[in-house]
Amino acid sequence: MVGAIWQVDGPRNAGRVAALGSASNLDAMTSNHQAPEASVTLDFALSPELADLRERATKVAAEGVAEYGVHHDCWINGFSREFSQRLAAEGWIGMTWPVEHGGGGRPEIERLVVAEAMISAGAPIAASWFVDRQMGPTMFRFGTPDQQQRFLPGMLRGDETWSIGMSEPDAGSDLASVATSLVRDGDVYVVNGQKIWTSFASDADYVYLIARTSREGPPHQGLSELIVPLNLPGIDIRPVTDMIGNRHFCEVFFNNVRVPAANLVGVEGGAFAQTMGQLEHERGGIDRVVSNRPLFDIAMAHADLNDPLVRQEIAAIETGYRIGRLLVYRAAVGQAPAGSAAMTKCIGTEHEQRVADFAARVLGPHAMASDDLWRAIGYAPAYTIQGGTSDIMRNIIGERTLGLPREPRAKAATGG
Ligand SMILES: Cc1cc2nc3c(=O)[nH]c(=O)nc-3n(C[C@H](O)[C@H](O)[C@H](O)COP(=O)(O)OP(=O)(O)OC[C@H]3O[C@@H](n4cnc5c(N)ncnc54)[C@H](O)[C@@H]3O)c2cc1C
Repeated sequence: MVGAIWQVDGPRNAGRVAALGSASNLDAMTSNHQAPEASVTLDFALSPELADLRERATKVAAEGVAEYGVHHDCWINGFSREFSQRLAAEGWIGMTWPVEHGGGGRPEIERLVVAEAMISAGAPIAASWFVDRQMGPTMFRFGTPDQQQRFLPGMLRGDETWSIGMSEPDAGSDLASVATSLVRDGDVYVVNGQKIWTSFASDADYVYLIARTSREGPPHQGLSELIVPLNLPGIDIRPVTDMIGNRHFCEVFFNNVRVPAANLVGVEGGAFAQTMGQLEHERGGIDRVVSNRPLFDIAMAHADLNDPLVRQEIAAIETGYRIGRLLVYRAAVGQAPAGSAAMTKCIGTEHEQRVADFAARVLGPHAMASDDLWRAIGYAPAYTIQGGTSDIMRNIIGERTLGLPREPRAKAATGG
């Protein structure tokens, strides 16, 4: 998928954009913070090594953008296997994975620095993002040694793309309602059913499937996870065009698909706990805060900074950006408060929607002159849906973090 470079004529406030929007501004702010002795210190100033890493990542991201264009929500919409291979060559896929599994064994903060540079620029990282964020960690946590040997090298080379098959027409927030079935037949599972909203299924090599191995007991107890190569007979993949013309979503139909039982990940019937761990990875990252940062930069360059209403909006956006970023950085240095992933998802994605609203107001009809701008604005409702809706995040924060009474539930809603 190749996008165009976003362009709007005549930036008016480019200098101010750079000053207000730069990550180093936050670093400068936080590095001057003098914490009282014996308190927990939050110091987000980057070390010289991290600053160098950010500079390198920013340069590579700019090259990716120059070649493939700026993508809104680039970790879903910017699909380029070539660029993923470039990331692999830099050692930026699996940076934090254990060395014994071929990963970099590097601290989480380094991965964050690289990811922030890529996503803030809109670089095309989608072909390897799910792998780096979820599938690899799942594989070395729950996979068998054989699965690790078979699947991790392709992920680390940036050669193989994975999609995630959780959601179904009647199971999105309520993952326990998943109905796609896995029936054991000797040394294979036979898969029947339908998934929907499966991002990149039409381009990917595998789908990481959540499906039902049992209908006994509470619904969440009968779920299992299976690695399904997408070229198997009986799989029908139909891309769905969203309202702004993106075609990464797919419906995936499984009709008596025979998958080696050796591809089951973890314990049969034990997928619910595994999936919840994966969703923690999915929700708490910088991808939930800066996915449309380039749109903000363009809007800022055209905003009337003397207009009091515009100034208020900018202040609200910058506040959301900084809170979201602080949550992510805290998590990366091991200082995350309980429930931090749901908070990051909720605060960060609602911030991204404010950015889109702001851009729509500031750019007005000019946005319609550029395909990429109106698409970036029109895409915004997706932010608070994908990976679990804001309603579900608020339920999680209320129940698990604040200890509020649980919502009355016939079924447990957990978000896909
Ligand atoms: C851009 C994008 C990419 C996606 N990629 C993937 C993918 O790769 N793989 C995949 O499996 N899925 C994917 N999804 C699907 C996504 O995970 C689901 O859309 C999401 O979990 C919501 O499920 P739903 O659409 O079925 O909505 P529903 O669950 O039907 O929810 C409808 C409405 O009811 C509200 N609601 C539901 N339950 C509750 C409750 N208990 N309390 C309060 N409110 C509630 C929701 O907040 C929402 O407003 C993607 C979605 C988007 C937008």
